[in-house]
Amino acid sequence: MTILVLSDIHANLNALEAVIQDAGAVDAVWCLGDVVGYGPDPNECVELLTRLPNMICLLGNHDAAALGQIPLSLFNREARVSIEWVQSILSPDCLAFLKALPDRVIMDNVTLTHGSPRNPVWEYLLDTISAGENMHHFDTQICMVGHTHIPVAYLSANQNGQIDRAAMRPGVSLKLTQRAILNPGSVGQPRDRDPRAAYALFDPQQMTWQPRRVAYSIGGVQQRIFNAGLPTRHALRLMDGW
Ligand code: ZN
Repeated sequence: MTILVLSDIHANLNALEAVIQDAGAVDAVWCLGDVVGYGPDPNECVELLTRLPNMICLLGNHDAAALGQIPLSLFNREARVSIEWVQSILSPDCLAFLKALPDRVIMDNVTLTHGSPRNPVWEYLLDTISAGENMHHFDTQICMVGHTHIPVAYLSANQNGQIDRAAMRPGVSLKLTQRAILNPGSVGQPRDRDPRAAYALFDPQQMTWQPRRVAYSIGGVQQRIFNAGLPTRHALRLMDGW
């Protein structure tokens, strides 16, 4: 069984299409939130997602902001401009889709959430200290998160609370034998200096996690960002993967 795990699409249709094609046939799709925000294609990305098999999607902070659930004052100016633009063009169907998103889902021995199990929509898991603290906030063996836009695997090394950060090599599978917090990285706005779209393939029977990267047409997305009048920084950063 193969599950496509992706996160932080951020309304980047070119990147989402490339990921779906590169992943090949999958049995299910788990999307860890932030479908909208920054990019030019929020409606198109939601429509494509909803056509995927056994698709589950979580609520991200940008999704919540688009719904008016988070004060815009908590975002920087450029993120705010992009959220206001999303609010102005979201179709009724997409609005209904976003409104129905849960902030935490448990699938057998996996907990799914956007930020962290301790604070599902907001906390960034950027180091082994915060990952270690969060190991106490889920009961399953595995927790999958997005939000930081950086692919990473935090592995519980021993009973003393030591956390190892595993190296992520695209295409190389990790065997999951211990408790772990896994992040597939970002489809639509990677921030690890690699501009290729990031995602992962999870096999719940073999208990393997394979981080993957795929190149896509960045120029087309940039052009649509310019055309929509969205902040140019959101277009330029795609080239640098930052
Ligand atoms: Zn995000």
